[in-house]
Amino acid sequence: MKKFFLLGHPVSHSLSPRIHGMFAEQCHMQIDYRTYDIEPGGFIDYVGRLRLEENPAGANVTLPFKRDAADYCTEITERARSAGAVNTMTFSGNHVYGDNTDGAGFVNDLTGRCGVSLLGKRVLVIGAGGAARGVLAAICSQGCARITVSNRTIGAAIALADEMGVHYAAFTDLTTGYDIVINATSAGLSNASPAVPGTIFKDCEIACDLFYAKTPTPFMRFASESGCRRVEDGLGMLIEQAAESFHIWLGARPDTKPVYAALRG
Ligand code: NAP
Repeated sequence: MKKFFLLGHPVSHSLSPRIHGMFAEQCHMQIDYRTYDIEPGGFIDYVGRLRLEENPAGANVTLPFKRDAADYCTEITERARSAGAVNTMTFSGNHVYGDNTDGAGFVNDLTGRCGVSLLGKRVLVIGAGGAARGVLAAICSQGCARITVSNRTIGAAIALADEMGVHYAAFTDLTTGYDIVINATSAGLSNASPAVPGTIFKDCEIACDLFYAKTPTPFMRFASESGCRRVEDGLGMLIEQAAESFHIWLGARPDTKPVYAALRG
């Protein structure tokens, strides 16, 4: 049976084993998907040891090791390079192929399950960390009319905007004029919403929080209260990025709809 791992810290709360288990069942495959909680600083040694002892076929990588994973790989895809992070590793002999499926996961969920096109849209991405990078790398090729990145620490937004060829704005300069607003900050982890003005949701068709929870996140509540017509969390993205990883490893494309329904339920 092929082995796949999720490597991160912490990982005990992760839905990935359930998601991949459902994908495998649907595709009549048997896989062994396990989580490993790695102490920060020990990623490279740990993965080296795991590969020798367990001979895995692949691994997902989550916080805080996506950049370490990019360094560890012998070859990475263009989308992983532009995201500056790897969340999917495939092992083949001495080679380690790295990819980043986060951005594609976001776009597939938005355009598929949510039925929202990015073509001609004015998009605001809040945050300038790894998730914002992955999402920007993916939406830049979707024909958006204008993409703006904003971040609590403005220097990080300026650097990211320069690198990706998009606009930037400080939180205090944000006003109206966005069709799609994406919260790619980790504020949800501290049960908070980024301190952006509610006016950004005035013309907004959909506000997406990459963070997900059982109940609407603080950002989703803030967007709704500020007049946003539709709000979504990051569960759909999580499932879609997993489906991309599954396809890379096993060549099969699982149907993500029943998995979303099961996990949301
Ligand atoms: P990261 O690299 O650590 O970046 C964190 C970002 O959040 C930075 O831009 C930081 O701004 C900002 N931030 C943190 N707390 C904030 C606050 N209270 N107010 C405003 N901004 C704040 O983290 P990441 O990997 O990008 O992850 C970001 C989020 O995306 C997390 O919630 C994660 O769970 C989610 N995510 C979801 C999926 C999915 O599949 N659904 C996949 C990947 C990530 P500063 O620069 O000012 O510190």
